[in-house]
Amino acid sequence: MAGLWVLGEVTADGTLARISTEVATFARTLAEAAGQEVAGIVVAADPTAAATELATYLPRVLALSEPAAAERAWSMVAAERIAGILEPDTQEFMFAGAGPDGRDLAGALSAMLGWGVLANALGATWTDGGPVVEMSVFGGKLKTTSRFTGPKGIVTVRPNVVTAAPAAKHGEVEVVQATGDLRQPVVRTVERVVEAGAALPIEEAKIIVAGGRGVGGPDGFKLIEEIAEALGGAVGATRAAVDSGWIPYGQQIGQTGKIVKPQLYLALGISGAIQHKVGMQTAETIVAVNRDPDAPIADFADLVVIGDLFAVGPALLAELRARSG
Ligand code: FAD
Repeated sequence: MAGLWVLGEVTADGTLARISTEVATFARTLAEAAGQEVAGIVVAADPTAAATELATYLPRVLALSEPAAAERAWSMVAAERIAGILEPDTQEFMFAGAGPDGRDLAGALSAMLGWGVLANALGATWTDGGPVVEMSVFGGKLKTTSRFTGPKGIVTVRPNVVTAAPAAKHGEVEVVQATGDLRQPVVRTVERVVEAGAALPIEEAKIIVAGGRGVGGPDGFKLIEEIAEALGGAVGATRAAVDSGWIPYGQQIGQTGKIVKPQLYLALGISGAIQHKVGMQTAETIVAVNRDPDAPIADFADLVVIGDLFAVGPALLAELRARSG
């Protein structure tokens, strides 16, 4: 029995998703401060590798093997199996990543168990037997602090709000057998598609070079790609660039795109609208190139280069190439 549970998500190649390492760190830190037990749970056709990895972060991990997880919509299958493990009478809170799978699972589990969901957590403390969760709402304009009214609940944690850190001691993995038939409606997986242009996922990149409307078109993004390549980074974009069809949606950063936390975020031709800012503001260092000194990004960037990106960009590229020899 655990007071806090961590959902372990499994990638297509069977390893643990990065978001789950962050959620595990988030929940373990909270559990340690609160004197609560914390455990992980992985539901997959073959959960072994991911469960073993999750045990690097948590004292105890349940590995539940469920072949249907490979053929059907994972979240429905996982939610039903997890619902079967959670104890109806104890105080329990489930922590999942606020990505597509974690959100899906939170919704399904909430519907099955009647538990509330606090979404997009940025941080949490523990008071009176439950988590008090800080969340970002209205596209980052407000932060709210909320708690559950009862002894159960689901918290989805925003990507990149903590840096994953293994526990001092490797945890135990317990293999659990699934029992009973699955009863929820069957949603079959008919095809898996690898996202185009996702050679280096922007969520995991240490350096991101991002372009906005100022880049002017798909040709302008070639400059962004070249700078990213010279720096060993990934390419990001604003919604304005994505909506114009200059770059795929998978590269969009912001409220309706991805949340990133690189060491360096180089923004070219990006104004810094709030909906973009919420996706990149936790970058360690933000450098902006903009010809408008009054662009909002100047208020939160660490360094602003006032100039035309088509002059600054090639000069930067030439310097980077000269340095790499
Ligand atoms: P602009 O705001 O047009 O800025 C372009 C900048 O480029 C300007 O500052 C300009 O000075 C500069 N510039 C132009 N030419 C040059 C040049 N040659 N050299 C140097 N600088 C130059 N946006 C997101 O990015 N991500 C989201 O997830 C997102 N979600 C949204 C959700 C909602 C519900 C809504 C309403 C909006 C959302 N937006 C999102 C859109 C957001 O409000 C902005 O419209 C968008 O971020 C602006 O993109 P931009 O900075 O590329 O363009």
